Amino acid sequence: SPGTARLKALDSDHHLHPFTDFKALSEEGSRIITAASGVYIQDADGQRMLDGMAGLWCVNLGYGRQELVDAASQQMTQLPYYNTFFKTAHPPAIELAAELCRLAPDHINHVFFTGSGSEANDTMLRMVRRFWALKGKPEKQWIISRENGYHGSTVAGMSLGGMAPMHEQGGPCVPGITHIRQPYWFGEGRDMNREEFGKVCADALEARILELGPDNVAAFLAEPVQGAGGAIMPPDSYWPAVKAVLEKYDILLVIDEVICGFGRLGEWFGSQHYDLKPDLMPIAKGLSSGYLPIGGVLVGDRIAETLVQEGGEFYHGFTYSGHPVCAAVALKTLEIMQRENIVERVRDDLGPYLAKRWATLADHPLVGEARSLGLMGALELVADKATGERFDSSLAVGSMCRDTCFDTGLVMRSVGDTMIISPPLVITHDEIDALVSLARAALDETARQLAA
Ligand code: PLP
Repeated sequence: SPGTARLKALDSDHHLHPFTDFKALSEEGSRIITAASGVYIQDADGQRMLDGMAGLWCVNLGYGRQELVDAASQQMTQLPYYNTFFKTAHPPAIELAAELCRLAPDHINHVFFTGSGSEANDTMLRMVRRFWALKGKPEKQWIISRENGYHGSTVAGMSLGGMAPMHEQGGPCVPGITHIRQPYWFGEGRDMNREEFGKVCADALEARILELGPDNVAAFLAEPVQGAGGAIMPPDSYWPAVKAVLEKYDILLVIDEVICGFGRLGEWFGSQHYDLKPDLMPIAKGLSSGYLPIGGVLVGDRIAETLVQEGGEFYHGFTYSGHPVCAAVALKTLEIMQRENIVERVRDDLGPYLAKRWATLADHPLVGEARSLGLMGALELVADKATGERFDSSLAVGSMCRDTCFDTGLVMRSVGDTMIISPPLVITHDEIDALVSLARAALDETARQLAA
C-alpha cells in the first residue's frame, strides 16, 4: 500500500537499525511490524507470523495483555516519573524490589534497577570490583567470561560479551576482561563424549584462573544457557565442575539471567535449573514481558552486606533506575506469571511438549541436531547429516532459512547456521504444533533453494 511504501522509504532514508547492515537495509528495505496478538505478529502488508522469538526473547506473556496496558496507564496518571536517587523512592520501585527478592532464591535480598540488560551488566561489573576493593583485595580485577557469550551493547556489555565482531568495532574493550571457550558441544566438541567435553570446558576456566593468578580474579560471568550465541545448553557435567573451581579459588559467580530469567527454562531463574547460587544476577527482558524497558541486578547477601555496611555512597545510577511506569508493568507481569502458573507450566507441560515435538525435526536432511530446554530451542543446519559437516559460510544458509521462515509465517532467528526459537511462555500445544510444522516447511523450502 502507499502508506507502507512511504514508511519503508522513510525507514531506509533515516533510520539506523541495531545489528543491521545499514547499506543492505537502505537498499532492500525493512519488514514493518504494525500489530500483534497472543503469539502472533502482523506486518504492514497484512502477513501474520508466529513469533517464535517472543520479540527479542522478552515478550514472555504474549502480545495484547490489557492488564499491562492498564498498569502503565494508571501509573502514568498517578506519577509518570520520579527518580530513586538521593534517598527518594516511589511505591512501584519499592514494591517491585520486594517482590523480586521474594521470588528470588533465599540468599538474594537486594536489587539495583537499570533501564536494560546492558546497563545491568555495567552495574554488575562495577559492583564486583567495588566489592573486592572494599574487602581489601583491589587486585581482584579480572572478570572471566566466555567466547560467544552476549551481555549487551554498551562498552562494558560488549567487552564482557565474547562476540568477536563486536570487539573488532569501536576501539579497545574495557580492560581486565578475558574470555574462555564455551561449552558448545555440537560446534566444538563432537570429537569427544558430551560430558567429557563439559569437563574440558570447566578445566579451561581453572587454567585461565591459574594463568591470571587466583588472587587477581574477581568473578566468572556466564549465561545459564547461552542465548544469542546459539541457544547452547551445556553438557550436564559443565556447571557442577565450574562451581567447584570457583569455590576452590573464592571467585564470584555472576549468572546473566537476562534471557533465562522469568521462566524461560522452567524455573524462575535459569541458575535454579542448574542448581547454581550466583552472587549477582543481571536481569531484564521478561521482567516486564518486554512491554517497557527495565532491568536490574539481583544482589546476593554476601555482596549486599558489604556494599550496604561498608560501601558508603555508590556513585552509579540511571535516570530511569526503577522508572515508576516500567516498575508498575513489571510488578503486574510478575503477578500474572504467578496467577497463571507460567513457570510451572513451562517446566511441567510446555517445555516437555516442545521437546517432544521439536525433536521430530531431527530427521530432516538439513538438521544435524535438534535440542531444547524449557521454551528455548535450536536446530543445527548441516551439509552432511552423517558427519555433521557445515555448509560453506559464504552460502549463508542460516540467513536463507530465517528469511524463508518469515515468508512461511514463522519468526526464527539465525546465528550462523544455527536456527533458534524462544517463543512466548503462553504458547499453547496447538501453537507449538503450528510452530514445528512451519519450521519444517521452511527447512524444506531452504533445502529446495539449496538444490536449485
Ligand atoms: N544479557 C543477555 C544474556 C542478553 O541476551 C542481552 C540482550 O539480548 C543483554 C544482556 C542485553 O540486554 P539489553 O539489550 O536489554 O541491553
